[in-house]
Amino acid sequence: MVVKTQNQPTAALPTHKAAPAKDEKVKIGHIPRFEFDTYEMTVGDKVYPILNKGMKFAVYYDTDKNGKLSLEEMIEASKRAVNDPDDKTNVEDFLLQVRQHMIGQPSVYKDDYPSLEGIYSRMYSIAAANPDRVDVVNIGQSTEGRPILAMRLSNDVHSEESKNKPSVIVTGNIHAREWITNDVVATASEKLLAGDAEGALEDMEIWMLPNVNPDGYVYTREVDPLWRKNTMRNDQGEVTGVDLNRQFPHYYRIKGDSKGSYLDDFGANDQPNLDMYRGEGPLVEPEAKVIKNLLDQERNSLGLLDVHSFGQLLISGSGTHDVKPEEYESICNAMNGAMEGVDYKLLPDNGLYPVSGGLASYVDSLGKVGLVMETAQSFQPGPEKRDIEVDRASDAVVEFVRQMQARAHSRS
Ligand SMILES: [Zn+2]
Repeated sequence: MVVKTQNQPTAALPTHKAAPAKDEKVKIGHIPRFEFDTYEMTVGDKVYPILNKGMKFAVYYDTDKNGKLSLEEMIEASKRAVNDPDDKTNVEDFLLQVRQHMIGQPSVYKDDYPSLEGIYSRMYSIAAANPDRVDVVNIGQSTEGRPILAMRLSNDVHSEESKNKPSVIVTGNIHAREWITNDVVATASEKLLAGDAEGALEDMEIWMLPNVNPDGYVYTREVDPLWRKNTMRNDQGEVTGVDLNRQFPHYYRIKGDSKGSYLDDFGANDQPNLDMYRGEGPLVEPEAKVIKNLLDQERNSLGLLDVHSFGQLLISGSGTHDVKPEEYESICNAMNGAMEGVDYKLLPDNGLYPVSGGLASYVDSLGKVGLVMETAQSFQPGPEKRDIEVDRASDAVVEFVRQMQARAHSRS
């Protein structure tokens, strides 16, 4: 029952594989109801009805088939289903978000994580403390018109010469629910400014983008803690969303996967109601375009690291092999070595999981280093676990910058 795809949690999620018969029209939001018309979830001494969107989980986790669920029952069901020793999921933490999604409640850790305004004000504070070395740049607008902000780090950030330096890009939160990732990128920025990668700000411009999916982030705080996509609306005005990490033009559609059919979906979905919906076409969504424009502008960039959660994995690009597999391995090993107390698994892109239209593979196809880091063991770990994960994952980001610096030197 465990579906493994890149950037998908590896815990026991229900599969989306039960495709309807060919002639049956797929209705957006349609969820098959088995056993019971309604399900209930017990939280403490309260009982909540499970919402339509949570029904597929209810069917899956209600192992004693009584129409009533609790977090404990979900944990037990999940533990029984997962027996992969490589699976790093913290089942309890992960299912906390699933439960809140099922009953339409906010994340239990909502107050432990910053609002979007909080993320942006942290960026402005970092810039205010480092006026000659940090510039906050509005690089474009989201679907709902929110600014997408980047910090440009360089020792002479306001000079014209700075713009000619080779650059590095680090992105976070392309998937809305991966709350820990914006903290990883912001904390890595502070470490870089504290001098953790010696000479990096002299040699390069470092673009730090803690949150490239602001609408989705707000949606995960206000509406659904398990939301992954942006907040694109369909013709009826309902939020269906597009997976921004399936929007890029490299292998946007793998051969044999035709538009309009979901039966041949491979590495992304053509069904708008699914988590990996690829959208109407490559780079149609504003957020994806904004990232593409930055990559166009930074033609002399060396690489991009896209920070996701979760799974404790480092996934390298394998588009064109301009960057050789052994170079990826050496970069990933160095990043792994920079982290204390963990051993991230190294994976080649598409080595185990099919992906199409991913950002890191697109960067790889441009002849640059394109890497995905899947940090932590759930999307929104509680504050204690979060702080530990953020500290070591941000060390890995700093190491990535060092690796790009070495690359810049070897080329000059
Ligand atoms: Zn992700």
